[in-house]
This record gives sequence, structure tokens and C-alpha cells, in this order.
Amino acid sequence: MILFAFFLGTLIGSFYTATASRILYFFYGEGRKTPDRWKQIFFRPSFCFHCKEKIPPLDLIPLMGYLRNRGRCRHCHYPIGIVTLLGELWPGFLLAYLIYFNYSVAQAFFLVLLSGHLLIAFATDWKHYSLDHENTIFVGLFALAAGLEKSALSFSAFWPLLATSAGVGVILWVLNLFFPDGFGFGDVLLGSSLALYAGLPWTIVIFEVAAAGSIIHIYWILKDRKAPAPFGSYLVLGFFVALLAEAIY
Ligand SMILES: [Zn+2]
Repeated sequence: MILFAFFLGTLIGSFYTATASRILYFFYGEGRKTPDRWKQIFFRPSFCFHCKEKIPPLDLIPLMGYLRNRGRCRHCHYPIGIVTLLGELWPGFLLAYLIYFNYSVAQAFFLVLLSGHLLIAFATDWKHYSLDHENTIFVGLFALAAGLEKSALSFSAFWPLLATSAGVGVILWVLNLFFPDGFGFGDVLLGSSLALYAGLPWTIVIFEVAAAGSIIHIYWILKDRKAPAPFGSYLVLGFFVALLAEAIY
């Protein structure tokens, strides 16, 4: 059962990792001028972003393609990247982890699908300091579904989540008004969506990780105090940390 959950999770991870790299390619990268890019994102058979060659079916099985070709494109030998591998592995690990800790199947799926959309948010914010509202809507919907399931549809259990989400939304919105370069409106939507599932005290964990991550990023990675940090990406990391911790707790 756990092994099956892991495999199913890597399939979901594979879908979202592919979607994330397609969004980077078609909306931010080389493929920006493609006329039917929405259609291409969802219906074009998998291809190498470097040489544009189609990827054979056996290589599309999560992890298999990576292992069979030692992490490189079969045609042009361009490295696939460890991030792709992690993007496939993470939802597999998470689904198995949540089932192991006795989450309901519905809840585990809500959270894994939520995590898939968070991988997309992580990727666009990390590379381009940008969170797409089209994607954040899904983050909000799955967080709402998971929050409702967590509170077993009882309003007395749900309203604290709602209040946390509203509080976070207001705080981030004020930060957005005063420091628009550091906190985008995308961060406001993302932060309040995550709080809608996490509630208290876990939302505090999310923001501690996000704040620490952003500070470390600015001082150690960018080495420039005026440079922006991908705050949204660190919110995502914070959420994953909170999720793992909540399951054990
Ligand atoms: Zn290639």
C-alpha cells in the first residue's frame, strides 16, 4: 500500500514537474512566442527542451527515464537536472508519508495535488520572482479542500483556519503596499492560501522558514542586500516543513 502510494505519487510528481518546466519554457523562456502555447503545455507529447526531440514512452515512466539515461537526454545528452528528479520523487514520498501517518485517502490526495501546484509556484518564483495567478487559484482551491477535510466540515473547527488565512492575508497585503518589491501580490494570495490549510501554530512555522530562507538567500546566495529573494519559494518550503512536522505531531 505504501509502495503503491509512492508510485502513484511519482506519477503525479512527474505530471507537475513536466507542467512546471513547460510553464517556464512557454511563458518565460524560448517558447514565449509560440501561438498556441496553452495547448502545447497540456497536449504536446513530452520533448527535450534542448534539442526538441520527442521522449520515447518507456523514458516517461517516473524515475525510469532518469535512471536509464543517467540523467541526460537520450538524443543530445543535455543534463535533465537533479531538480526534475526531486520534483518527481517529492510527491511520491509525500503521498506515502501521509498514508503511513493515517491521513484519509482524500486528504492525502488533496495535499499531494496542492503540493504539485506548489512545485510550479516554487519554480516560477525561484527562476523569475513571479507567481502566476492561474496556478495560485489551484493552490487556494486545494488548500480549501484540504482545510475543509481537516476540520471534518465542522464550522467550529474551520473558522480558526479561515481567521488565520484572513490575518495572514491582511499582514502580507500591508507589506505588499509598503514594500511592493519584496512582497508581491502573488505572495499575499499564496501565503493566505497556505494558512487556510495550516492554521495555527503551523502557519508560524511556514513564515519562520520563509523569513529565514529569504534572509539566508539574500546574504549567502545573492550576497547583495538590495537583491530580492524568492519569498514565495520559501513559503512553499515552509509549508512542506510544516506539513511533515504536523503529520508526526
Ligand atoms: Zn535533447
